[in-house]
Amino acid sequence: MNTTSNGAAAGAAAQPRTWTCPFCSLLCDGFALEGGASLRLRGSDCPRARAGLAAFDDIGAPRASVDGAACDLDAALDAAADRLGAARLPLFGGLATDVQGMRTLYRLANVGGAILDHAHGEAMMPALRMLQDRGQMFTTLAEIRNRADLIVCIGTDAVSSHPEFFRRCAPAASQASACRVVFLAAGEGTPTAADIPWASAVEALRPPADVFDTVAMLAALVDGRRIDDADGELAALAEAMRSARYCVLVWEPARLPPQGALVGESLLRLLMNLNRKTRAGAFTLGGNDGAQTANGAMSWLSGLPLRSRVGPQGVDHDPLQYATGRLLDERAVDLLLWVASFTPELAPPATALPRIVLGHPALAAACAQPGTIFIPVATPGINADGHLLRADSVVSLPLHAVRDDGLPTVAEVAHALVTRLTVDAAAKEGVQ
Ligand code: SF4
Repeated sequence: MNTTSNGAAAGAAAQPRTWTCPFCSLLCDGFALEGGASLRLRGSDCPRARAGLAAFDDIGAPRASVDGAACDLDAALDAAADRLGAARLPLFGGLATDVQGMRTLYRLANVGGAILDHAHGEAMMPALRMLQDRGQMFTTLAEIRNRADLIVCIGTDAVSSHPEFFRRCAPAASQASACRVVFLAAGEGTPTAADIPWASAVEALRPPADVFDTVAMLAALVDGRRIDDADGELAALAEAMRSARYCVLVWEPARLPPQGALVGESLLRLLMNLNRKTRAGAFTLGGNDGAQTANGAMSWLSGLPLRSRVGPQGVDHDPLQYATGRLLDERAVDLLLWVASFTPELAPPATALPRIVLGHPALAAACAQPGTIFIPVATPGINADGHLLRADSVVSLPLHAVRDDGLPTVAEVAHALVTRLTVDAAAKEGVQ
């Protein structure tokens, strides 16, 4: 099997080309890397990117393993193909990979029939439900930069999960900014004016109600309904939203309580109201660890989003039944294939089921155990080329390897498994 096809010299850093960071769905492409064996970020102190890069220090020469015993790649692939071939209903989870990885996993899932769900499937569902039930009014980073004069972050500080978000929203230096940023029900420790120097004002509002009631009240006020006991700050914010030229609502489904889809639907109604007289859009913070990419690839390949079962019988989508946690708890599947190519933080869930892990090399030790096959894989943007979809879903960005650790990509591993389960299996039957 070929390893990475990036052309970077083993162990050495390529001269930093335009580096695209794969460690969250903003896919920042304006920073540089230094170093070789130890990669260092230049131009940003993003803690998420730094932690992601540090996970590649001292990875050594990661080995595949079967049931805890180290082996070569071919032996691990043979064992993985045997277990996949014997599975009645496997679950492909994690799915932290790039476009090509997801495309090939989709082919593999179709060979015998598998359910696909992303590690962040639960967090993705409110936005997906909103899209399925009522539609979507989204905006992009470029539109925020060029048009927004009011950004309202609802229930999120934005930077905990996407540290460079406000830098990515900053208008061009030549452009005067009159953009106000308001954090609504975002908890303690939200960014201040010092953290968003380009904003004309930065405020944090903490209404006494929970996020459901707060958003419902705000939507009613934007709608112009008279509410006698309305919170004064909320009423003023509703008025500001109605008079803004371009209002952006930022929300983060992963931070919402259960039934967060209701908040998404209220936000959409609110946006539709605003768009009758002015312009407004939503920016959904999510899609980390390749979630945006996995769902996008799944949708264009099958016509349905993740949490679907694919195979010879067709495609079946069930956002509640096909949730990873539920499937594992109820033992509704009989094998877990887990994909985590970006960070070791995305460890496979503990389960008594057999597991096949295509993982970050730093997961090797944790995955060397009975019942688990571990295959270390390359990471797009570090030791493999690839493509990922950005959080706003409108841009697919190329990622380039900066070094070669001799690891196969997820797509190469999935392709080798497809070959073993189809071509090789057919040849064996022909011989018999
Ligand atoms: S914000 Fe996200 S994409 Fe940007 S540098 Fe940090 S981790 Fe990377």
